[in-house]
Amino acid sequence: MIMQTDVVVVGGGVAGIKAACELCQAGSKCVLVERDSVLGGKLRGWHKLFPSFTSSSDVIEELLNELKQSNVECLLGSEVVYISSTLCRLASGTEIQCRAVILATGYNLFDARIKEEYGYGIYDNVITSVDLERMFHTGTISTLSGAAPEKVAILHCVGSRDEKVCQRHCSKVCCITAVKQAIEIKKMLPNSEVFNFYMDMRMFGPGYEELYLTAQKQYNVHFIRGRISEAAQLPKGRLQIKAEDTLTARPLIMSVDMLVLMVGMKAPKQNALFALATGLELQPSGFISSKDLFLEAVLTSVPGIFVAGTVTAPKTIGESISEATMASRAALKFIEG
Ligand code: SF4
Repeated sequence: MIMQTDVVVVGGGVAGIKAACELCQAGSKCVLVERDSVLGGKLRGWHKLFPSFTSSSDVIEELLNELKQSNVECLLGSEVVYISSTLCRLASGTEIQCRAVILATGYNLFDARIKEEYGYGIYDNVITSVDLERMFHTGTISTLSGAAPEKVAILHCVGSRDEKVCQRHCSKVCCITAVKQAIEIKKMLPNSEVFNFYMDMRMFGPGYEELYLTAQKQYNVHFIRGRISEAAQLPKGRLQIKAEDTLTARPLIMSVDMLVLMVGMKAPKQNALFALATGLELQPSGFISSKDLFLEAVLTSVPGIFVAGTVTAPKTIGESISEATMASRAALKFIEG
């Protein structure tokens, strides 16, 4: 099948949905292509958003309502196998001819099993930040035996800022996510103790530093500067963690009921395939390069291919949505010549 449109938006997460809505509202024809069978991307797995504790489902719902009112043609369950600035080919054999493309294909989560020393997938009560969000969704935080954890360790920078796993970049949002998750644990389990192990606290956004202070003062969350070197399973599913407190330069051994790994954002392999097909430039991290970081952040090295959201770097939900608006405007300007 051959389709024709003005702009193809690849990726149905928050950035893709917003870009498609903006294009249609400006009177342009747009096809939104998503690999999964539902729209919303990784935000669907999130419970509440930092720093305001806004419900992620409220954000998705609002975007989907906007989409319903626009004239976007959505192709769900559709894998893109080839793109150029004028053609998008799907695994189904469908070809979409277009005048511009917006890539909003996002990121992958780092696979915590690669950091074997922490025992994810091996020990019962080592979970990731994404698993913890699922627990928040169900309203219960529990160990595998069903008990509420009394002592929880949260480890920052898992699969980020780590030369050993070829992930040098900072994933930007996991420090504030860890603060938010620590508070959520304390709200649900006020008698629990929560220890965050960090390398640096990167509280870059509005309200983040304040939330970090609230976590310490109001919720008594403990922050330890140091990296956990390994975890080992103890009887009854407990865990022993070894770390170094780098502020006091002392080794530290602690037993906890649960270890939460803050998994970072990784560039999808698909970026390299897109780059190969189109000549798009990639950063050493594997994320797609913007044409210019200051004035042309949503343009790429290929005229007619635009970018929005975490396809270029880790970003917050708000940043991804704002960038989608910018990308749609840039694409419109391009097709209007
Ligand atoms: Fe590490 Fe914080 Fe950067 Fe995430 S945001 S990679 S936890 S320093």
